[in-house]
Amino acid sequence: MIEELHIVGGGMAGSEAAWQAANLGVPVVLHEMRPERGTFAHKTGNLGEMVCSNSFRSDDHEQNAVGLLHWEMKAAGGLIMDTAYRHRLPAGGALAVDRELFAEDITAALSAHPNVRVSYEEVTELPDRGRWIFATGPLTSDALGQSIARATGSDALAFFDAIAPIVHAESIDMDVAWMQSRYDKGETEDERRAYLNCPMDRETYEAFIDALLAADKTEFHEGETAGYFDGCLPIEVMAERGRETLRHGPMKPVGLTNSNDPENKPYAVVQLRRDNALGTLFNIVGFQTKMKYGAQKEVFRMIPGLENARFARLGGIHRNTFLNSPTLLDAGMRLRAQPNVRFAGQITGVEGYVESAAMGLLAGRMAAAEALGTALEPAPQDSAHGALVHHITGGAEAKTFQPMNVNFGLFRPLEGLRGGRKGRRERYKAYTDRAKEAWTGWLEGQAAGAAQTEAAE
Ligand SMILES: Cc1cc2nc3c(=O)[nH]c(=O)nc-3n(C[C@H](O)[C@H](O)[C@H](O)COP(=O)(O)OP(=O)(O)OC[C@H]3O[C@@H](n4cnc5c(N)ncnc54)[C@H](O)[C@@H]3O)c2cc1C
Repeated sequence: MIEELHIVGGGMAGSEAAWQAANLGVPVVLHEMRPERGTFAHKTGNLGEMVCSNSFRSDDHEQNAVGLLHWEMKAAGGLIMDTAYRHRLPAGGALAVDRELFAEDITAALSAHPNVRVSYEEVTELPDRGRWIFATGPLTSDALGQSIARATGSDALAFFDAIAPIVHAESIDMDVAWMQSRYDKGETEDERRAYLNCPMDRETYEAFIDALLAADKTEFHEGETAGYFDGCLPIEVMAERGRETLRHGPMKPVGLTNSNDPENKPYAVVQLRRDNALGTLFNIVGFQTKMKYGAQKEVFRMIPGLENARFARLGGIHRNTFLNSPTLLDAGMRLRAQPNVRFAGQITGVEGYVESAAMGLLAGRMAAAEALGTALEPAPQDSAHGALVHHITGGAEAKTFQPMNVNFGLFRPLEGLRGGRKGRRERYKAYTDRAKEAWTGWLEGQAAGAAQTEAAE
């Protein structure tokens, strides 16, 4: 008898996890609270409902990290991708779908699967026995959220994300910016140079404040709450409170000397902090914002040193339940303190339909291997799935952990390739080639293992 796998949440991650595990022969119970209990964003009782946009973003698997995730999921027999391609709508290079047909088809496929039973109910507690995957997403129900907070400590579970934009390090102009911690604080040379600083003179600062005030902003969704948490006010709200507020907050120029121009005291300084162990990504400290994406790019490129910045992700503030995964989860996405419980999807600190489904795919395969008593190698770090899971379970800085989209900044750099904008096409192609090879090898290893087990039985 193979032990049942319980999966909570039939969104992007839970649906994919159920499909993967069921196809490997594991009996699955998929618990979904809708339609009995809804959220402010979901509209139907269907599994795999897309809550907002109907796009899975770029489908370019040679030049785009999201497209690469598509490719990897398709190669792994992913339900979300397979269904998306069947309901594709014309959208240039993006993979957009008919959302209703998509979710109806996901629901039908899972409901008809002989190894899946769908149970429409809310789960309100983390169970201490049995094998479970929690994929309850950014809008996890309140009762369950409280149970998770009790198990993890409330500091390790966030209910909002206040995302500061993240910039690719190689796109920052180091003739303008310099590395230094405020007052040169720190025990080691690395710590004394932990921040990247961008100087502003008075005129640039004033123009920057004007641009912030004038920029297009998004509003909170109805029911999402209009209250901001202390300590994570959007920068434009700080600017509205007074033109000097930012200069006394995240942009204060004290304790810093511009090594590129030591005689000139900056009027304000924008600080960026390392965002991953590889040092390829930096976040702009304290710059959470509700500005629209187009406006963010324009406004942030006014910052000296960031004129040509490429953004790994833009800023935002949203209702979002997510764990501090780098401290709470092991490499197998299990809760360290309670390993019968695994998490998947957006609640693990990835962001987006595609990334969430991808983490569901991994969690489903890992839980299935445990149930079947077979060994499963970790997903290769050079694949898009591997790079993402490595980031959330260890590569990211735990102290500043915020949800992450997949992007090439998460990949181990390849030696000997041309840097900068000019080398980008060649570099991305090399990353995606390397990823495909690693991912294919990983899948083939599992297929060979399964064939051997079958022959032995
Ligand atoms: C308002 C809003 C807009 C968004 N827009 C986009 C977008 O345009 N593009 C994009 O890529 N991403 C968007 N996202 C992020 C998006 O939600 C995720 O990318 C994706 O849906 C996450 O997948 P998931 O499986 O982790 O969670 P979900 O898809 O949300 O699935 C979680 C499921 O768990 C169920 N559930 C919750 N609690 C319980 C419980 N206690 N018991 C049983 N079931 C439960 C929910 O009903 C839901 O079906 C948006 C998020 C929000 C909140």
